[in-house]
Amino acid sequence: MKRIAYSLFVALLLWATPTEARRPKPQADEEVRNVVVMIGDGMGLAQVAALMIENRYEPTSFDRAQYTAICKTYSANNRVTDSGASATAMGTGHKTDNSRIGVLPDDTLVENLVELAKRRNLATGIVVTSYLSDATPAGFTAHTNNRRNYRTIAEMLAAQRLDIAAGGGRTYFEEQEGRSLIAEMQAQGYTYTETPEAFLAVDRLPILGLFADKYMPAAAERGDYLPRATEHTLELLGREGKGFFAMIEGSQIDIGCHNNDPKTMLDEMRDFDAAVHKAFDYADAHPGTLVVVVADHETGGLTIVSNNKDFTASESGIEYRYSTSGHTGTPVVLYAYGTGAQHFSGVMENTEIFARIKKLLDLK
Ligand SMILES: [Zn+2]
Repeated sequence: MKRIAYSLFVALLLWATPTEARRPKPQADEEVRNVVVMIGDGMGLAQVAALMIENRYEPTSFDRAQYTAICKTYSANNRVTDSGASATAMGTGHKTDNSRIGVLPDDTLVENLVELAKRRNLATGIVVTSYLSDATPAGFTAHTNNRRNYRTIAEMLAAQRLDIAAGGGRTYFEEQEGRSLIAEMQAQGYTYTETPEAFLAVDRLPILGLFADKYMPAAAERGDYLPRATEHTLELLGREGKGFFAMIEGSQIDIGCHNNDPKTMLDEMRDFDAAVHKAFDYADAHPGTLVVVVADHETGGLTIVSNNKDFTASESGIEYRYSTSGHTGTPVVLYAYGTGAQHFSGVMENTEIFARIKKLLDLK
C-alpha cells in the first residue's frame, strides 16, 4: 500500500513537472558528433531576462538549457571586449587585442574551429544576420589584425570552402579589381542565392547566401529568416552524415543595445530565441548534437529597474534602463543543451569554449 502511494506521488510529481524539466540530462559517455555554437551578439543576462519578462515567464529557449556557465569576456588588452577579440577567443581559444581576428597581439596566426573541423572532414556552416565578414563570423573563419578589413575577411571566408555561408555583406563578395568572390565560389560548385526564400529552397551543398549589401534588415522586417535558416542549415549539414560544426549568430541584438532601443533589442531577442529553439529541437531529434548558446559580450549595460522604491508594495511597472551605448565588462551566461552539455558549467574563460569543443569533437 505504501509503495502504491509512493508511485502515485511520483506520477503526480511527473505530471506536475513541465516537460522541459523532465527531459533526461545528457549521459557522460555519449559521443559528440555535431556542434552548434549560437552567439547572441551583445546578449547579457539582462537581455535574456527582458525576454523572459516580455514572455510573461512562459518558458523561453533559455529556460530549456540543461547546463549553464558564466563566461568571462575580457580581451588581451581591454577589460571590455569587442566582437573581434571575443570571437577570436571562442573561435581559436586565444585572447587577443580588441579588433584583431584570428591573430595574437604579435600577429601570430591561430587556427579556428572551422579550420580544425575541415581537417577532420566535418561539414561546416556559418549563418548570420550581419555581414558574413563581420567580426563574429570572422573569428571562426579568418585571420587579420583589423576587423574592418572586410574584403580580406571575405576572401578568407571564401577560401574556407564552408558548406553553408549565409548572411549579409554582399558588397564584400562582389567584383573588386577584376575579382568576384561570388563568381569564384560558383565556379567551385556553390549554389548562390540572393534571398532567404531562395536559400531555404536549396537542397544541395555547398550554398552561398548573400541577402543584403551590408546588414540584413532588422528582425521586424526580416521575418522568420534566422530560425528557418537555423533549421535548414542543421538539416542539410546533418544529412552529410559525417558530423558538423556550425556557428549561428543573432547579430543584431547588439545594434538594439548600442542604440539603447528596447524594442529592437526585444525583437532581435525573440528572433534569436526562436532560432535557439530550432537548434535545441534538432539536438532532441539527433542524439550526438551539442548546442552551446552564448554571447560575445554584453552591450548597453542594461538593467531592469522597478518603478517603485517601496519594495513592500506590489509592483507598479518596470523599466529597461541602459548605462552605456557601448559594450560592458560584465561576464555573460552560456547555455548548453544536448550531448556533452554537462561539460559546460561553472565559471570559465571564453577561450574554454574553443578548448572544450575541440576536445569533444576530437579535433587536432
Ligand atoms: Zn557591439
